[in-house]
Amino acid sequence: MPEHIILRDLDIPDIAQFDVYVNHGGYQALRKAIKENTPDQVIDIVKRANLRGRGGAGFPAGVKWGFLPKGVFPRYLVVNADESEPGTFKDRQIMENNPHQLLEGIAITAYAIQCRAAYIYIRGEYASVAGKLQRAINAARAANYLGPNILGSDFTLEVYLHLGAGAYICGEETALLESLEGRLGQPRNKPPFPAAVGLYNKPTIINNVETLANVPPIIERGPEWYLSIGTEKSPGPKVFCLSGHVNRPGNYELPLGTPFRVLIEEYGGGVRDGKQVKGILPAGASAPILPAQALDVPMDFESVQAAGSMLGSGSVIVMDEDTDMVWAALKMVRFFKHESCGKCTPCREGTYWMLKLLERIHSGKAQLSDIDLLNEVASTMVGKCFCPLGEFSVSPVLSSIKHFRDEYEAAIRAQMKMAS
Ligand code: SF4
Repeated sequence: MPEHIILRDLDIPDIAQFDVYVNHGGYQALRKAIKENTPDQVIDIVKRANLRGRGGAGFPAGVKWGFLPKGVFPRYLVVNADESEPGTFKDRQIMENNPHQLLEGIAITAYAIQCRAAYIYIRGEYASVAGKLQRAINAARAANYLGPNILGSDFTLEVYLHLGAGAYICGEETALLESLEGRLGQPRNKPPFPAAVGLYNKPTIINNVETLANVPPIIERGPEWYLSIGTEKSPGPKVFCLSGHVNRPGNYELPLGTPFRVLIEEYGGGVRDGKQVKGILPAGASAPILPAQALDVPMDFESVQAAGSMLGSGSVIVMDEDTDMVWAALKMVRFFKHESCGKCTPCREGTYWMLKLLERIHSGKAQLSDIDLLNEVASTMVGKCFCPLGEFSVSPVLSSIKHFRDEYEAAIRAQMKMAS
């Protein structure tokens, strides 16, 4: 990667400072958007760049912006900064070390969708990051890049920060809206979708932090430049969060389509103690585990899906040859059971029973038939849960049984042998 487009702090010291950001061309994209383009033209540029959401779903941002009903005001922009997926820590670095690029992206997006208020919903555990972000908002507002009549235009935007209280479910966009409105964070029925009926029942666009940080460079350099990075269907750079059994965990900004092997070996310094990869979680705990044979799969939305998993937010967790896959599945299901909001029965009960069965298997008190029972409980949940959390919770179970069934059987047989 010749330059860092999102993680500019790696190339430019103190880019978090307002003056440094401005001295490196900061807020010129906002000026260009307002002075040279109508709101619809900005949407068209982002559509042509095919900027896909970096929060997990990969839905094209410009297309989403175009879903807003015509002539209905007020409308809102909500920034999903509730970064709670295990192994995901990219938005934190962006907000902490390059906050003005996010704010500039927010301002351009708000101009494009013609809203006057944007809310950043940030997870409660990021309280120190929120303080830095608030100072950045104050500095941008003092220089008239936010606030009333931005850069002498009739475009006005106020940005508000809201801290969550540490619930994973509030990363789901409608639960986030409920929480933002002061209610219990539980998902809403869809449809209506937030673009039509969102915050305070008004049209609302919800975008992830990294998605919005991509907007200023797209406006500045144009969609053709953006399309020249990454793959045809998944263009642009992506911040991959690398963690687990690697020598150099961290955030790495690479073109979409870079193979797992390059991220893990070249950037992550390989697996610790010279060991082999056993499994890869491409999207934290939420996506099916991939076996080591997937190392050469390109990290883009289509290729990871074709390999049987999901790119999600690009939080790559590496598990080495010594990893107990039953234990790993147990840990992830315990997380989902704890974070289930309890609204719907398949998830509330299903996560409970998956955890019970995994605990039984891991502690060696199970029978071989319990593997099929666990598989059946998880399979029964697929397509029946009210929101994605319930669907995510089955991924570690179904994928670990699919690829590592021998470990389940070995865990049970070992105990049977001891008992006989
Ligand atoms: Fe709540 Fe789980 Fe149902 Fe989602 S799937 S609404 S988290 S109980």
